[in-house]
Amino acid sequence: MATVLSTFTVAIQVAFFLLAVGTLTDWIRHQDRQRTYLVLALLFLTFLVLISPINSLLQLPPQVITDVGLVAFLLSGYFLLLFRDSLIPLGPLPRRLITAVVAVVAVAAVIANFPSGPNATRSPFQVIVLVALLITWVLCVGEPIFRLGLASIGRPAVEGARLRALSLGYAGLVAVILVAVFAGTRLRDPNLTVAIDMVVLVVVPLLYASFSPPTWLRRIWSQPEEDEIRRAIHDLLLYSPDRPTLARRALDWAARLVGGAAAFIIDSDGSVLASRGITADEAARTAALPKHPRSTLIVPLDLAEGPGEMIIISGPFTPVFGEYEVSRLRGYAVSINAGLDRVSLTGRIAALEKAKTEFLNIASHELRGPMTVIKGYLTMLAAGSLGDISARAMSVMPLLIAKSDEVNSLLEQMIEASRLEDGRLALKRERSDIVELTGAAIETLEPLLTDREFRFEKPAQPVWANVDPDRFQIVVRNLVTNAIKYSHTGTRVTVRIKPNSESAALDVIDEGIGIAAEDQPRLFTRFGRIENRATMHTSGTGLGLWLSREIARMHDGDLTLDSEAGRGSTFTLEIPLDRS
Ligand code: ADP
Repeated sequence: MATVLSTFTVAIQVAFFLLAVGTLTDWIRHQDRQRTYLVLALLFLTFLVLISPINSLLQLPPQVITDVGLVAFLLSGYFLLLFRDSLIPLGPLPRRLITAVVAVVAVAAVIANFPSGPNATRSPFQVIVLVALLITWVLCVGEPIFRLGLASIGRPAVEGARLRALSLGYAGLVAVILVAVFAGTRLRDPNLTVAIDMVVLVVVPLLYASFSPPTWLRRIWSQPEEDEIRRAIHDLLLYSPDRPTLARRALDWAARLVGGAAAFIIDSDGSVLASRGITADEAARTAALPKHPRSTLIVPLDLAEGPGEMIIISGPFTPVFGEYEVSRLRGYAVSINAGLDRVSLTGRIAALEKAKTEFLNIASHELRGPMTVIKGYLTMLAAGSLGDISARAMSVMPLLIAKSDEVNSLLEQMIEASRLEDGRLALKRERSDIVELTGAAIETLEPLLTDREFRFEKPAQPVWANVDPDRFQIVVRNLVTNAIKYSHTGTRVTVRIKPNSESAALDVIDEGIGIAAEDQPRLFTRFGRIENRATMHTSGTGLGLWLSREIARMHDGDLTLDSEAGRGSTFTLEIPLDRS
């Protein structure tokens, strides 16, 4: 049993020695006030455990060793309390009071001249000092155990786990000391000693984990939180409507990731894009400081417009910023960067789209006036109201009129497109015979159809539907014009109206260049044109089919396509019937 006990003693000494080396190295690498307190608390504890081997080297008088041990014991508790104070401030008065009490007890312990052996008899004064010393230590340690344990609830995973490990580690030590005090002579029982030693051995890794948890442990701790964070980032990146909103949401998570008290983002122009836990003015002042204090963490943002920064300010609850948190924050910043750029790009595209719509609106309205005059005079010329013209000139009049109609319908298309875009396209629906409307629309295009084999297949009876006559004709004219534009001279163009039980189908069939399957989805988009050898000499705006489908859908119908490259196309306009 004796060998087991001495093995345990050595194991504990080695463990504490390693704890001291580990915490010290870590502290040298990242010195800050919080770490300093914690490392001092742990070093004084280690010193206590290693006091006998140290003394066997130094051979100091027993009284000195006892006094130094007692003071180190007190200080190990005192520095833990200061560590707690740096996380959750105690306030200046309690801090001063506690410091004074610790100093008085330490002085009293030295004055009391404690005997060194465990069995030595003690004077009443010595007993009082010993009790005061124990109570002071237990309070210095007990309060942080409770407070840090409480503070760990609801904190980011790694931070919470570190605080819990620290609480648990110290709770183990308090338990060991209390058992040792109250066990008295039973302490000689080897089983109890082994049990105590085992608790102490478990405490060491806990203390180390709280001070400087290895990356693998941080990863395990943060795993449950990862999914939540991933989902949140995904949502915030996709659904934030503008940069300030995205930046504000991003800061909430960034601060949570590292447990910062406040955070803000500096945009590429140096302005504060968003702030959290700090006003925009304070953030601007902090950003203007020539040197940032140690307690801030700065992550550069490589924004499309220029460099920006995400700045996290630590607060009373912030644990020591570790490398793991910093690297996570950097990874997170990359996503935020992309998100911010995405939002500004979307904004720019939206502005461009708006500019295009405005241009369409202005250009079409400006051109409509002169075109009305041209068409008017052409019609008068053709009718002979302006006097006789030569037979040769007269022969081109129908084509000129048809071309001016084409320009007019193009302008009409542009005006309607900009109305649709602005949400100003309101239908004026009335019960109409779509056979008649289709016939009238085709009539205006007749001069363009002369070199096509044109057929209009229609039912003998009227087909009634509740449509906006002008808009319905726009669609028909657009489909027939396309059938002419994208087919060769001499080929057949057919317009067929087929009423079904609920709706009527209006097919516009050509034997033209056709449309490849992969190009078809693009046709119905705004400005969607297909650029290839077959279409390169045909001009157009790419608005017609988009507008036509939108109009069809506003009528609760649809516009669909059946086509194959090189084999012609069939566009089908589906319109619900009016059976009243
Ligand atoms: P555009 O003013 O360019 O004709 P549309 O929106 O009417 O605009 O048509 C979009 C594109 O669809 C056209 O550029 C053309 O490539 C293709 N397209 C439309 N109708 C036909 C058709 N009947 N046959 C072959 N291609 C067509």
